[in-house]
Amino acid sequence: MASCTTFPTRWPDPVSSSGPAQTPHISSVPGCLCPRKRVLDALEAVRDTLKRLAAFLDRDGVIIENRADYVKSWDEVSFIPGALLALQELACSPLAVVLFTNQSAVGRGIITLAQAQAINARVIETVRAAGGRIDGSYLCPHAPEAGCACRKPAPGLLLQAAQELALDLSRSWAVGDAATDLQAARAAGVRGILVRTGRGRTQEARLPALGLGTCPVVDDLPAAVKLILDRIESYRITTR
Ligand SMILES: [Zn+2]
Repeated sequence: MASCTTFPTRWPDPVSSSGPAQTPHISSVPGCLCPRKRVLDALEAVRDTLKRLAAFLDRDGVIIENRADYVKSWDEVSFIPGALLALQELACSPLAVVLFTNQSAVGRGIITLAQAQAINARVIETVRAAGGRIDGSYLCPHAPEAGCACRKPAPGLLLQAAQELALDLSRSWAVGDAATDLQAARAAGVRGILVRTGRGRTQEARLPALGLGTCPVVDDLPAAVKLILDRIESYRITTR
């Protein structure tokens, strides 16, 4: 069972408003060097350092198994071993957890948008029931020939999430099982990690030719989450 003590998911609000008799905000007191002020300043600095980072996660091939003929119903959903536990661990971090998924089965007329959304909602519900946290979910329903701005390798889903959720893309991570996930990440200024689940094992060989040879490649989502949390921790240490 992952512990939630490493990173609070929500930092305490340093501005206290207790009752109608408003006292001046503590930081507005000139030259105040009391311990409480120093603690609050430190908390604010840490919060500013950590806020709005995200872990973008592709769905099929990272959280649930890919299907060559598309995931068309809940009966075809199979969670990849370790994925739910990794999501539980990620839920204990300060990172926003955001799904970004291409669902071209909609644009190809294989399933309806409502069906795709219902499957997605049930995946999220299952993640939450297992102690995970999904802060945003972005889905491209278009066929490749639609030429939309959201189908990966285009960065549209990431850019939309960044705008709506106020994310700092330059310090965020994206995990996918396809080169196109990493291309979308790079186009959005996000660091990408390839996992060897789903299509990952065959996609790995494509990375150097696409200029993505320096992207980390790990076995699965648990390994990707560990890498992200390790990097975040070292970032916190070096910026103290
Ligand atoms: Zn699209």
